[in-house]
Amino acid sequence: MSTQEKIQTNQENHPFSADVARLLEIVAGALYTNQDVFLRELTSNAADACDRLRYEAIKNPSLTKDNSDFRIHVYKDTESRTLTVVDNGTGMDENELIENLGTIAKSGTASLMKQIKESGSNDNLKLIGQFGVGFYAGYMVGNPIEVISRKAGDKKTWRWESDGRSGFTVHEASPEDIALLDGDRGTAVRLHIKDEACEFLLDEKIKQTIELYADHISVPIYLGTPQDTSEGKSEQINSASALWMRARNDITKEQYTEFYRHISHGFDEPLMTAHWRAEGKMEFSALLFVPTLRPWDLFDPSRRHFVKLYVRRVFISEDIETLMYPWLRFIRGVIDSEDLPLNISRESLQHNPVINKIRSAVARHILGELDKLSRNDKPGFAAFWGQFGAVLKEGLYDAPEHREDLLKICRFYSTKEDGEKFATLAEYVERMKDGQDKIFYISGENVQNLKNSPQLEGFRARGLEVLFMTDTIDDFWLQQVHDYKGKKFQSITKGDIDLAAFDKKDDQEQKEKEPEQNNEIESLIEKLNEVLEGKINTAKSSKRLTGSPVCIVAPETGIDMHMERVLKIHQKYEGETKPVLEINPDHPLIRRLAANNAAGQDITDAAWLLLDQARIIQGEPLDDPSAFAKRLSEVMLSDISK
Ligand code: ADP
Ligand code: MG
Repeated sequence: MSTQEKIQTNQENHPFSADVARLLEIVAGALYTNQDVFLRELTSNAADACDRLRYEAIKNPSLTKDNSDFRIHVYKDTESRTLTVVDNGTGMDENELIENLGTIAKSGTASLMKQIKESGSNDNLKLIGQFGVGFYAGYMVGNPIEVISRKAGDKKTWRWESDGRSGFTVHEASPEDIALLDGDRGTAVRLHIKDEACEFLLDEKIKQTIELYADHISVPIYLGTPQDTSEGKSEQINSASALWMRARNDITKEQYTEFYRHISHGFDEPLMTAHWRAEGKMEFSALLFVPTLRPWDLFDPSRRHFVKLYVRRVFISEDIETLMYPWLRFIRGVIDSEDLPLNISRESLQHNPVINKIRSAVARHILGELDKLSRNDKPGFAAFWGQFGAVLKEGLYDAPEHREDLLKICRFYSTKEDGEKFATLAEYVERMKDGQDKIFYISGENVQNLKNSPQLEGFRARGLEVLFMTDTIDDFWLQQVHDYKGKKFQSITKGDIDLAAFDKKDDQEQKEKEPEQNNEIESLIEKLNEVLEGKINTAKSSKRLTGSPVCIVAPETGIDMHMERVLKIHQKYEGETKPVLEINPDHPLIRRLAANNAAGQDITDAAWLLLDQARIIQGEPLDDPSAFAKRLSEVMLSDISK
């Protein structure tokens, strides 16, 4: 809040940030089919608060000394028509209440708002479904909402209150407020239940909802007040054991899904769930998920992974950057180590060798599971690859130790199915022609354009399969990864490729029979080289072309064409590689040019028109578009006048 705003409001009244105000409007207007998720959000916040304090208390045990068992209470009061969720977690001081419940600082909610802003659409409901709205979900069922909170170790208790419209107030809590807390710390969230949500004043409904959404929460949740519990009158309604420590057979699909939603703040289903326990030299449990949808910020450079690190059931951090490879940054879940010391700072964890070993073991396991998925659930895997393939391929570049496993699950479109179906490298190699020792590929922006590339013609005609590389990362990993099982990767838009070995016999004989024609072509090439000197590397006769008259390719020693474009876009390269101009000696246009032995202005125009059309097909800018247009008009005119 700016000082200006502070002066305008008094100490206690605060406006919501614009984001929150907008979000609240959406929440209030949302005819939410799944109202009960508000309880998931509130219990999840309560559990997070307990997890945070548990961690802080490792260093500072006095924070929890009189009250070291963490717990959550949920209860209704029919007289005041309220529902209250109480935790004895870390609590919030005045500033934190203002910050955390008045602005959208982080979390799923922030991504939701960003998405809403960016999409500019009215499809907000779907977006809410995708992200969850955190604390503010309470306004679907309650109004006003009061939050009483005392930060662990502090003396003062604060009261936050809002009708979810204009803003909120924060002031010191009264003794009655303080009585709501469970001991000397934590938070009580009290919702004044709206008439249309009065079912949440029924114990049975509360119980059912918690069972559905919060069973996996590892802090016990009681139905009743903290006083009830101390008198032995309340009932524990969740199993309160860490889900990832339970046996796989004891966990239902619904429980996995709920847990996934709890940690991802999302509402979607996981596309893949991997739950295992590593034993032996290193001991850890992992429960990891691949989401169905690509998060909006997957390619944001500041994007990190969202895997939480626990040590022997104590939550440590979700910011240990080195815990996951960047190319697995879409994975969500929990890793719980048995080996790490508890009282280690988060900073020193970043470089802990145990973390590095876990990272590698986790990557290996995930890649193995993805490989299984690719065999057992082809549509599921195709969906995965569509969302995350491009990210995973960063690993080819970054992590040579996992390269082999990665190459196994990589999928590519190819000429075989005309860019409709994915192929694996193993399938490609299996289909290679006799005598073929290279894996041919062409890289560019999209399959649609690549399919029509003139450079492909000669490969198609000879039945040679070519892979389409359409992700930006492809050009980069192909610089690092030179072969797959001994078969080299070869770009078909670069250098000389000897296709003669794949020619039909009679084709070759026919060519040898026509020395006169060959001479004419040679002299045409000479002239092209003269006219285009300084513009091209060289002109030469092509084996690549069957239907088109010309194409350009990168010289053997140069940088590949699409790569150069990508580098230029990212301003990493300023050079200008001169292309090789390849002409098709069998094309009628080239034959006529050769036979007519054109000279003077005619050959100059022809040479430029050939080069420029090759560039256009390639999607490259022309040096001088107006000269191109002029030449083209003149050629058309001379044709019309004939
Ligand atoms: P998220 O949980 O995704 O961060 P929420 O909207 O659910 O977003 O909550 C916003 C913030 O408010 C939390 O990050 C946390 O800092 C604070 N908060 C909410 N509930 C509690 C609670 N019961 N105890 C302590 N802090 C809380
Ligand atoms: Mg939350």
